[in-house]
Amino acid sequence: MIKTDIAILGAGASGLFLASFLDGKDYLLIDHNQTPLKIKVSGGGKCNFTNEFVTPDNYLGDKKLIKKVLDNFSNKDVLRFFRDIKYKKIKNNQYFASSSNEIIKKLNKKKFLAEILGVEKDNNFIVHTSKGDIRANKVVVATGGVSYKKLGATDIGYKIAKSFGHCVTAPLPALVGLSLQKEQFWMKNLSGVSLKAKIEVEDKLFFDDILFSHRGITGPAVLNASLYWKKGKIKCDFLPEYDIKKSNKTLSNALPLPKRFTLEFLKTHNFKDLPVNHSQKAINLLKNYEFAPAGNFGFDKAEATKGGVGTNELVKLESKFVKNLYFIGEVVDVTGELGGYNFQWCFSSAKYIADILSKMI
Ligand SMILES: Cc1cc2nc3c(=O)[nH]c(=O)nc-3n(C[C@H](O)[C@H](O)[C@H](O)COP(=O)(O)OP(=O)(O)OC[C@H]3O[C@@H](n4cnc5c(N)ncnc54)[C@H](O)[C@@H]3O)c2cc1C
Repeated sequence: MIKTDIAILGAGASGLFLASFLDGKDYLLIDHNQTPLKIKVSGGGKCNFTNEFVTPDNYLGDKKLIKKVLDNFSNKDVLRFFRDIKYKKIKNNQYFASSSNEIIKKLNKKKFLAEILGVEKDNNFIVHTSKGDIRANKVVVATGGVSYKKLGATDIGYKIAKSFGHCVTAPLPALVGLSLQKEQFWMKNLSGVSLKAKIEVEDKLFFDDILFSHRGITGPAVLNASLYWKKGKIKCDFLPEYDIKKSNKTLSNALPLPKRFTLEFLKTHNFKDLPVNHSQKAINLLKNYEFAPAGNFGFDKAEATKGGVGTNELVKLESKFVKNLYFIGEVVDVTGELGGYNFQWCFSSAKYIADILSKMI
């Protein structure tokens, strides 16, 4: 049987990052994929690996824990870590690599390629894999969330947590497009159209692009809204920067919106394309458009999974119930907004455990 001191389950963003601080230590990285596919496809192949402004408010989850973990390894530390790769700041705050392959190259480590099947404990841990059992003194679960199964995601991390008595907050798709109820099907006629809007959901406000698609609405503002949306209504301001002026031009000519959108909106809501001066009602509706989405596009299209291993049963990311069992990355019930926040969480939580393990060895 293979023996190791530290078994790292999952060689994605958080598992690889942890391993990069364990050089010279006795560890084994286990994954069924040779390549960290989520890093590869992330940010449209350019991996948005952190953000200029990172606070616990950019995350859904236990704010105190998030703060502690981010304070220990911040966005500045992430930028320092990747200082020798080519990267760019986009939209004034999001850091993208010139290619996600650069991030992968920097994090590359040897892996034990096998399916992880479960973990048991007697004196130490036994990790069951498709290629046999592995004995380990410590186990770090870094198997991620369940979105994008085609990239290798499984629920094994949740199963392992549950098998040791942990609660797992129901996993749900996040950073995902929203589907529409019948009353909003007019938006489907706008497939391919995009515009800048403000979306209000719970107590959060996102000002970014909305993209209409044949399935519903997507784009950065919607993906962010999906993180906080719990059924019920969201509010859209389709004219966030419009200063209403007296004008004799018709709405479709005067408004800073794609003409196709304005005409479809007016038709659906029984307004005529009249001059701005006579269109206060339509403008009000465009600025305060409330509706309840039907649902979301599902795990196959979700960039993240909200929910996961409950943080109130972890102390410093270690299981309260089983010593030397740790959880890092997306498997934990912490989910970030769009813009590099999820990789930042993965890297910070990995470094948090790296520091603890380094002191022990
Ligand atoms: C399309 C897409 C784009 C994204 N873009 C961004 C972005 O630009 N910026 C950002 O911050 N976040 C982005 N994310 C989110 C980000 O990729 C994840 O939050 C992050 O990868 C989670 O890291 P992790 O280490 O927790 O899990 P993962 O990176 O998912 O790693 C988990 C690893 O465990 C392995 N594994 C799982 N189950 C098993 C098993 N049973 N046996 C063996 N191995 C197993 C998987 O193969 C995988 O390698 C994106 C996600 C997607 C899907």
